Amino acid sequence: MCRFVGIRNEHLAQLSNYAAPLQARFALLAKELYWQLLKSPAEAERFQLAAPGQGGAAEQLLLQWRELIERPLDESGASKLAARGESLARHGVDIGWLLSLYERAEASLQSALSASVLPDEAAREASRLLRKRVQLDQMLTFHGYQRFLRGEADNRHAHFQSMSSLYATLSGVGMALADGHDIRAMLQSVCEVCVREAGLGLAWVGRLQNDGQVSLEAAAAGDMVPLRAPLQISVRADEAYGGGLSGRAVRSKALQVANDVYADPALEPWRELFALHGVRSALVAPLQVRQQVVGTLSLYSAEPSFFNQSRLALLDVMAREVGRALERHDALERSHRAENELAFLARHDALTGLPNRDQMQELIDRLLQTRHDGSQVAVLSVAVEGFHEINARLGFEGGDMVLCEVSRRLRQAIYPFGHVGRVSASRFTVCTDRIDQLPALVSALKQRLPMPVEVMGAIVELRCSIGVVMSTEGWCDAASLLRRAGLALNRAREHGGGHCCHYDAAMDEALQKLHALRSAFSLAIPRGELALHYQPKINLLNNRIEGAEALVRWVRDGRPAAPGDFLPAIENTELMRDLDWWVMREAVRQVKEWREQGLSVPVSVNLSSGTLKHDDFLPTLEALLDANPLPTGFLELEVLESVTQQEAEQITTKLERCRDLGLSIALDDFGTGASSLVHLQQLPFDTIKIDQRFVRLLLDMPGNEAIIRSMVSFAHYTGRKLVVEGVESQAIWNRLLEIGCHDGQGYGISPPLAASAFRQWVQDWHGESLNV
Ligand code: C2E
Ligand code: CA
Ligand code: CA
Repeated sequence: MCRFVGIRNEHLAQLSNYAAPLQARFALLAKELYWQLLKSPAEAERFQLAAPGQGGAAEQLLLQWRELIERPLDESGASKLAARGESLARHGVDIGWLLSLYERAEASLQSALSASVLPDEAAREASRLLRKRVQLDQMLTFHGYQRFLRGEADNRHAHFQSMSSLYATLSGVGMALADGHDIRAMLQSVCEVCVREAGLGLAWVGRLQNDGQVSLEAAAAGDMVPLRAPLQISVRADEAYGGGLSGRAVRSKALQVANDVYADPALEPWRELFALHGVRSALVAPLQVRQQVVGTLSLYSAEPSFFNQSRLALLDVMAREVGRALERHDALERSHRAENELAFLARHDALTGLPNRDQMQELIDRLLQTRHDGSQVAVLSVAVEGFHEINARLGFEGGDMVLCEVSRRLRQAIYPFGHVGRVSASRFTVCTDRIDQLPALVSALKQRLPMPVEVMGAIVELRCSIGVVMSTEGWCDAASLLRRAGLALNRAREHGGGHCCHYDAAMDEALQKLHALRSAFSLAIPRGELALHYQPKINLLNNRIEGAEALVRWVRDGRPAAPGDFLPAIENTELMRDLDWWVMREAVRQVKEWREQGLSVPVSVNLSSGTLKHDDFLPTLEALLDANPLPTGFLELEVLESVTQQEAEQITTKLERCRDLGLSIALDDFGTGASSLVHLQQLPFDTIKIDQRFVRLLLDMPGNEAIIRSMVSFAHYTGRKLVVEGVESQAIWNRLLEIGCHDGQGYGISPPLAASAFRQWVQDWHGESLNV
C-alpha cells in the first residue's frame, strides 16, 4: 500500500513519534477547520452525514487527524478509510472541497512542526512522514470515493440494461397484442416476448376455468426446461396448491411475487419442481376482463430477486395491457356473435326459427331457377284464422305456443319435400318442387292443422285456410307466386276460413277489375257522378207516405249503376266513408229542399259499419246537423244487424247519441245477422226492417211466412215499428197485412226514383190498389 507513496510501512509508522509537536497547535488546527466548514455549510452538512459520530464535523475531522498522526496504518484502517471515501461519495461530498480541507489541515500541521523545538533533521523527517501519511490517507479515501462512483456507474448500466429489456418486452407485448386475431396465438407471442426480451426462464398464460382451475392456454420457455405436463393449478384457498401465487393472484386480483421462491412457505408444494427447473423468483399477474379475473400470466426467473420495483411496475402495466387486449377480443367476439345473431334474425323468424319472408322468397326463386323442363313449383299460403282472438284469449305467450305448434305441424308435413317459413304474424308459406307430393301434402295439412291444440291448460280449436298456386310455364318469380298464393288464400278465407283454395286466373282478373273500379270510384264524388234515388215507404193500411229510403246510384256513361255493382269494391276503404258522408249531406240537403217546397218526407240513409265505428262519426254528424237543423225524426239511419254484433257497447253509445240529436234508427236486414233476440232487444233502435229476401218469396215459401210472423211479434212486444222491403205485388201486400205488417216498400209500390221523379210520384200517389 505504501508503495504507492514511496515509503515503507514500518517507516511511516514512526510518524506517531512526532505526535506531541504535531498536536501542540491542535487548537489552531481546530480553528482552521471550523473556519473552513463555516465557509461552505452545505458541503459541511453532507460531510457530517457521510461521517456521523460524536460532536460536529470539526470534531470528527480533528479526531481523524489525531488518528492519522497517532495510529499506524494497518489493513483495517486502510479499508476504513476507503469505506469513508465511499460514504463521502455516496453523500455527494465534493472531492475538491475535501482536498482543500486536507491541504489546509496539512499546512497547519506543517507550520506547527516548523514552530516546534525539534532539531532540523527531525523536523524535516516529521514533515516528510506527515506528507506521505496524508498522501496515503487521501489516496485511500479517494480510492473509496472512486469505488463508489464506479459501482454507481455499473449499477446504472445494469439498471439501464434491465429497464431497456423491460421496455423492449412491453413494446413487444404491445405489438403482439395489437395484431392478435387468434387469441391463443396472441398470448403465445406475449409469452415468447417475455422470455426473449425480459430474459425470463418461463412465461405461461393460464385461463381460469369454471371448476376453479387455471389451466394452460399458452406458454413459452426460455432456458428453463419446458414444462411438458399440461399446467393446471387450483386457485381455491382450501386446496393444497391454492395458496400459491396463482391462487393468491386470482383471489386478490393483484400481482403476486416471490423473489425467493424457497422462502415462501406457501410455495412449499412446488419447491421440488422449482429446484428441478432452477426457478429462483416467480411472479403471477391476474388477467382481468371487465373487473373479472379470467386468467393469469406467470413468469419465472432463474435470478433471485428478479422482480424489483421497476420491473414490477412495468410488468403490472403489461398484465393490464394483456387484460385490455383480452377485453377487446372478448368485445369483438361478442359483437361477432351479435352480428351472427342479427344475420340469423335477418333471415329467420325469431319465434319459430323458420325462414322469414325474405328467405322464403329466395328459396322459392332458387327452386324456380333449378326447375327442369316441365317441372313446376308449388307455393302454399297458410293462415291461422282468428289468431287475434287466440291472442286475446291466451295472451301473447299462449298465442306464441299456438304458432309454434302450427309451425311444427307444417314442418312435419313438408319435410323433406320442401320448405316452410313464417311470413307474418299468423301466416306461413310452404314451397316445394315435388308436385307429385302436393296432393298428399295438402291433404295432410287439411287433416293435421285443424287438430285442437292444448295450450296452458286450454284447448284451442284451430282453423287454418290454405291458398295454393303452381308456377306457370315460362317465366315466373317468387313474388308473383306468393302474391297469387295470397289471392287463393283470400278466396279460401272468403268462404268463412278453414278451406283450401287453388289459384285460378279469374282471381287475378277479379282483382284487376276491383282495383280499376276502386280507382274510378275515387273520382266519382269530385266529378259529381253520384246521385241519390229515393224509394217510398208507405203505410200498407192507409197508403200514407211514411218516408223514403235514400239509395245511391253511380251515374257512369249516362247510366245509373246500382250499389251492388261498386260497393263491394270500396267496402272497408276510405272511399266507403266518403260515400256515406256524401249521401248523408245530400239527403239532409234534399229533405231541407223538399220541406221548403212543402213536401215533408222523412228520409233514411244506409250507414256502413266503417263510418259508424270511426272516431270522427259523432263530431262530423253533430257539425252537419248544427249547420242544417232538422226536426226530430226527419233523418233515419239504417244500420245493418251484423254491424251491431261487434263492439256493441260502443255502437250502442253512439246510436243513443244519434237519437238524442233527433235521428231515428232502423235495424236493416233484420234476421240476416244471426244475432240473438236478447241482444237485439237491448239495442237502441226504433224500427226493424225485414229484408226483401224473406218477403219477395213470401207466397212461394211457407217458411218465410213463419219467419216474418216471429219478426212481427218481436217488433210488437218490444214496441218497435216494422217496415217490410220487397213489396212487389198486391198479393204480397195483402198477405203482409194479414200477418200484421203495416209499413212497406218495394217495387210494387215504387222503385227507387230520382229526386224530381220522387216528387212527381208523391203528387201522383193516391194509394190505389196495385195493378201488379
Ligand atoms: P238495402 O238497404 O237492403 O236496400 C234495399 C235494396 O232493395 C235496394 O237495392 C232496393 O233497390 C232494393 N229493393 C227495393 N224494393 C225491392 C223489391 O221489391 N224487390 C227487389 N228485388 N229489390 C227491391 P239497391 O239500391 O241496389 O241497394 C242495395 C244495397 O246497397 C242496399 O240494400 C244497401 O245495403 C246498399 N246501399 C244502397 N245505397 C246505399 C248508400 O247510400 N249507402 C250505403 N252505405 N249503402 C247503400
Ligand atoms: Ca236499407
Ligand atoms: Ca234490405
